[in-house]
Formats: sequence, C-alpha cells, structure tokens
Amino acid sequence: MSQYFMGVDLGSTTAKTVILDGGGSVVAARIVQMGAVSREGLRRSVEGALEAAGLSMPDIAYTIGTGYGRRLVPGVGRTFTEITCHARGVSAICPGVRLVIDIGGQDSKVIAVDDRGLVDDFAMNDRCASGTGRFYEVLARALECEMSQIGDLAMKGTRDLEVSSLCATFAETEIISLLAEGASREDIAASVHRAVAHRVLGLVALVGVREPIVMTGGVANNRAAVHFLAKALDRPLQVPPDPQITGALGAALLALDTTGARATQGDLSMLEKVEREVESAFVPANRFMPTCATCSGDLDDEKNGSLRGMPIRSSGRASLGLTKPG
Ligand code: ADP
Repeated sequence: MSQYFMGVDLGSTTAKTVILDGGGSVVAARIVQMGAVSREGLRRSVEGALEAAGLSMPDIAYTIGTGYGRRLVPGVGRTFTEITCHARGVSAICPGVRLVIDIGGQDSKVIAVDDRGLVDDFAMNDRCASGTGRFYEVLARALECEMSQIGDLAMKGTRDLEVSSLCATFAETEIISLLAEGASREDIAASVHRAVAHRVLGLVALVGVREPIVMTGGVANNRAAVHFLAKALDRPLQVPPDPQITGALGAALLALDTTGARATQGDLSMLEKVEREVESAFVPANRFMPTCATCSGDLDDEKNGSLRGMPIRSSGRASLGLTKPG
C-alpha cells in the first residue's frame, strides 16, 4: 500500500506541493511561480515534487488541496481552507505558536492558533495590495530592483521619509516623486517597508497579539519585511526555514491525519468543526465587501485598531466561538 501523502497549495501567485512519507517527514517540496492561478503552474508543482521524490501519482495515498485555487487541484481527496492548513503546518514546525502572520502575493492573513494547532480566530485582507507581496513588487519595480534584493536595499535605509500613499495604484507615483526630490533608494525602500508593517498591524489588531508569533508566506523571505514588522509589533517574529510552503505542508499533514491512525476520532471531529466555522466565516464577509478606504479618501482613518474600510474579506472573530481546552 502506498505510504505517501500530498498537500497542494494553489495560491494567487505560486503553486506549492509537499510530499510526506508515512511518518510525516518531508520527502519533497516544490514551489512554482505563476503569472496568475493556473493549471499549468499547478501541474509543474505537483510533477516537480513527484519527480524530486522519485514517485508517481499512484504512490500517493491521499492528497489535500488548499489555497485560493484549491478546487482546481486534480485528484484531491478533499480541500481545507488555507487558514486551517497554515495553522496545522506552522504548529508542526514551530510547536507552541500562537499567532501566524502569513503574507502572500495578493493577500495577508493573521491566524490565532490554539495549543492543538487549530484555528482560534483569524482576519484576512485579500482585496487591497497594501500589506501584501504585490505592494513590495510595485516598490521593487519603481526602484528598478530585483524582488530578492529589495529587503537588502531597505535594510540600508537610514532616514525615515514620510510615505503617505499605501495604495499600490498611487504608491508608484509617490516613489517616483521621492526619487525626483533626491531621496535615496535605500531610504525609500526602508520607509515603504516601515509603513507597510504599520498597515499589517491593523490586521493583527483585529485578532489581538498572542505569542509566540511566526511569519510565513513568500514575503517572509524578505528580511526587511520581517525586521520592520517585528519592530512595529515590538515583539520577536520567528520565520521557519521555508516559510512559503507551510500551507502545503499543513495540507499534507492533514492528509496524513485524516487517513492515518495518528489522530483520534475526537481530534478529527474537532478539526472538522473548526474547519466548518472557518469556511463559513469566509462566505458572508465576501458578500459584504467594504469599500476600499484609499479610493474613498479615508486612508488615514483608523478605528478600533483596524483600518477603516480596509477590505478585510474575512474576520473569523465573530463566528469562531471555539471551546478552549481547560
Ligand atoms: P501566494 O500563496 O499568495 O501565491 P506566496 O506566499 O507564495 O503567495 O508569496 C508570494 C510573494 O512572496 C510574492 O509577492 C513574492 O514577490 C514574494 N517573495 C517570494 N520570494 C521572495 C524573496 N526571496 N524576497 C522577497 N519577496 C519574495
């Protein structure tokens, strides 16, 4: 009988696949960059991981799909939300984690995790580029810098410039104006990182700070994004060795949990209950999308620690009344 388990995270900009053996050890992982969510990116990620592991699809006992495009993953046993998968994956790598800040290509999530690795609460922004990888990409383009070097550039900045626009649409113009005024690329990069970190704080405030805090997602590869966010939080941030694959890892672990003998029936029932609550918290908020604050001119209006009108797609706060273990 095949003893391998697969997790596939089809995000907005990258496809990630993780394969585990029956003991839960990672045998292969593959990250593929996409232009947009694509079946081709998905195929390359799955095939790349299988090839690296020396396996083929019939060797995989069970596959779980997650992420923005999770329903496109072929041959999935079932899907889980990325919120549940990130909580599971990060808890395995960083036991004891209480807060996950995941910043991907086009969204950011803050997930409170309980001591069983289950979601306790979450907030998510997936409509505004501010506080997502896309915003840093705008910065890199305006400064004519590779994405992989933008963090190093920002770490060299010494002056705190005022950056007023955190809308990706307007930021490029503002960065160009700062360059025209003679500001250094390093100071601009640092100031934008600092400002974006303060925006992410708004999302954290919706859930509340809990420690230890772990940062994941592709943006966690940017050391300046981690540095300025830790400074804004005034708390240490842990970053796992491969922060981009934690959702896929969580999906693969859930494939193992739900099919193997590792979890009790009680654990699985609780997991299903939490997943249903997380999933239902996604849907209503989707229908009541707030207006973008930037576009309505309310950018600086912050209330209750959140960004007024910032398009938070989902805040699980109201609906996740989970029983905490005694
Ligand atoms: P998603 O799951 O939404 O597709 P990811 O978690 O894969 O997103 O993150 C993608 C983002 O991470 C992109 O915006 C990309 O620019 C950024 N990123 C990836 N690697 C690096 C790196 N080495 N330095 C800076 N940013 C990075």
